[in-house]
Amino acid sequence: MHRKNTINRRDFVNGCALSLAAGTAISPLEAVAQDLLDPNALPPDYYPPTRQGLRGSHEGSFEVAHAARDGATFSPVDAGDRAYDLVVVGGGLSGLSAAYFFRKQYGPDARILILDNHDDFGGHAKRNEFTHDGTTLLLNGGTSNIESVEHYGTVAAQLLRSVGIDWREAYAYDRTSDDFYASWDLDSATFFARETFGEDRLVKGSPTRGGPDAARLAAWLARSPMALEAQRDLVRLYTEGVPPGALEALDDWGRKERLARISYRSWLEDAGMHPQVLAWLDDRPKGLFCVGIDAYPALYAWAEGHPGFQQLGLEPFSGVGPLLHVGGGQHGREREEGGGPTIDLPDGNATIARLLVRQMIPEALPGSTLEDSIMARLDYGRLDRPGQPVRIRLDSTAVRVVHEGGPDGPGAVEVTYVQGGRARTVSAEHVVLACWHPVIPYLCPELAPEQKEALQYGEKMPIVYTSVALRNWVPFAELGVRSVTCPGMYHTGFSLGRAPAIGDYRPPRSPRDPMALHMTRTPCDPGKPKREQHRQGRRDLLETSFETFERRIRDQLARGLAGTGFDAARDIVAITVNRWPHGYAYSYDTLADPIEWALFPSEDRPCVLARRRFGRISIANSDAAATPHTDAAIEEGHRAVREQLEVRLLARGGVPARSG
Ligand SMILES: Cc1cc2nc3c(=O)[nH]c(=O)nc-3n(C[C@H](O)[C@H](O)[C@H](O)COP(=O)(O)OP(=O)(O)OC[C@H]3O[C@@H](n4cnc5c(N)ncnc54)[C@H](O)[C@@H]3O)c2cc1C
Repeated sequence: MHRKNTINRRDFVNGCALSLAAGTAISPLEAVAQDLLDPNALPPDYYPPTRQGLRGSHEGSFEVAHAARDGATFSPVDAGDRAYDLVVVGGGLSGLSAAYFFRKQYGPDARILILDNHDDFGGHAKRNEFTHDGTTLLLNGGTSNIESVEHYGTVAAQLLRSVGIDWREAYAYDRTSDDFYASWDLDSATFFARETFGEDRLVKGSPTRGGPDAARLAAWLARSPMALEAQRDLVRLYTEGVPPGALEALDDWGRKERLARISYRSWLEDAGMHPQVLAWLDDRPKGLFCVGIDAYPALYAWAEGHPGFQQLGLEPFSGVGPLLHVGGGQHGREREEGGGPTIDLPDGNATIARLLVRQMIPEALPGSTLEDSIMARLDYGRLDRPGQPVRIRLDSTAVRVVHEGGPDGPGAVEVTYVQGGRARTVSAEHVVLACWHPVIPYLCPELAPEQKEALQYGEKMPIVYTSVALRNWVPFAELGVRSVTCPGMYHTGFSLGRAPAIGDYRPPRSPRDPMALHMTRTPCDPGKPKREQHRQGRRDLLETSFETFERRIRDQLARGLAGTGFDAARDIVAITVNRWPHGYAYSYDTLADPIEWALFPSEDRPCVLARRRFGRISIANSDAAATPHTDAAIEEGHRAVREQLEVRLLARGGVPARSG
């Protein structure tokens, strides 16, 4: 555990600086953008997906924005680019989609600039790539999957198709991963940690698989270190549920409304559940809601199938009803109600981002199919070159976006950004802000106070996806487990990475092969209101060092895999901590927000006012839908572009003919 870390970390910021003249240093990316460096001369290891250490919101990506928030001013110079037809702030799935839709309508000559403050594009949809012993391992650093694909509306579904994703084929590839693990007969397990349950113990299997059966459940729990009273309470909870009490007198909707207004924790506490039962369930909502059961509405717990509601006899939400998939609805309900398969590609939805880039800058990602894109190496030197119609400028934080001559005039929009410590301006006929909503009031001082307030209503939900490369996965094969939940621990669990065979990707097949492991952490502050918990979680993430993460990861894996010969110092070969202090879009819930905002797409939700068009500036991002999903990100990019095309139509008396 305490042996010296031998991980070869290559988390360099902005690549190697390039000295051009005495006292001037610019990054290789800037040098390419200014035609001072041939893109082929970019250092061969200029490849962000392989960078390790603290990634996600990496060092160098947030400092400028925080300074702007704190009142810093900038003295920009003209970037020297010709005026753009469209500037997009934010190179996530929403911003990339917006650029794609604009270009589709306007034609291939449309001059588009996409600015993003990270050293890689994709926003949350990032790719992690490890190579060990000649084997390449892929994993998602954020946006994980195409969730419930049949819920995707026309726009998002059509975008997937046009970039080359036939979801049925993609799903068939995804299935090869499950088939592979099934062939090894690997199970799930729970690790009971001594700090929560008095003793470290791994118990294989799921206590409720095949339905809650009292005898089977009791036998499984007897293998755990849980207190006997807690075991009895859990059996009661799963097999009988909680007596309705005062809810007895209410009709179906009345019962649901009551559950909407209390937390799952209160529901369980009022039923006298043992504290270890609460600890056992506390992490369940964290992967989707980034809080524990104290800030998780009991109604959502019921809708997502958590135990305790059997005696209420509630009517399920209708599969075609208005509550099924509303904007701002709870993250995760789709899965409850079907909606088609969820598709995990090897690097998650980073594949969508890469395919969008291929559509707009084909030379950056060679090839033409989904299959050949998986292992194609993206050429970062091709993203921002003079003369190409679409340019993606990384390491570039927008700090000011203002209309020349007011929002109603014919003038252009001036966009100031900071790259490599220098502030520059570009001018654009149209702007789409596909960045995080809370940032926008600092960018656009001209916005009305009520719109600024609405933009800042939602607290982005902090979450961490940690990717760990292992020398091999023999310990998992020995134990016969694929995923381990760890109630109450630093990361809520760990699982073997996805292993679909697709294109030239050769996922691990033998336990002696290297393997990437996924771990999730959601820092929060139990007991406080939800939005305050997210603020505290964000602070926690920005203050936690990589060394702390590394120590916690080693400790958790060493204890969870104890007895297998696993040696953390020897067997962990790389760690990438994808920290997302500004993670999921805030979605309304029935405890923290007015109930109608959570259950209906009502017009008075802050996201509706927040996304209002402002002259030649439109506002996208999944924040605009208050729902943290890829289809929302795409749809909002589409709406924002439609708004600007309408502005163009009215200003010019016609939409430009599509020229290609
Ligand atoms: C860990 C994690 C897992 C997820 N898993 C899933 C999943 O499985 N399925 C799913 O559908 N959704 C998932 N999501 C939700 C995900 O947020 C959306 O699917 C989608 O990727 C969001 O895209 P976006 O473009 O709206 O926002 P983002 O991806 O956040 O992109 C916005 C970009 O704007 C940049 N930006 C902000 N301010 C500025 C500025 N001033 N200047 C320049 N750039 C700026 C940001 O840094 C960011 O790169 C996940 C999110 C996270 C964090």
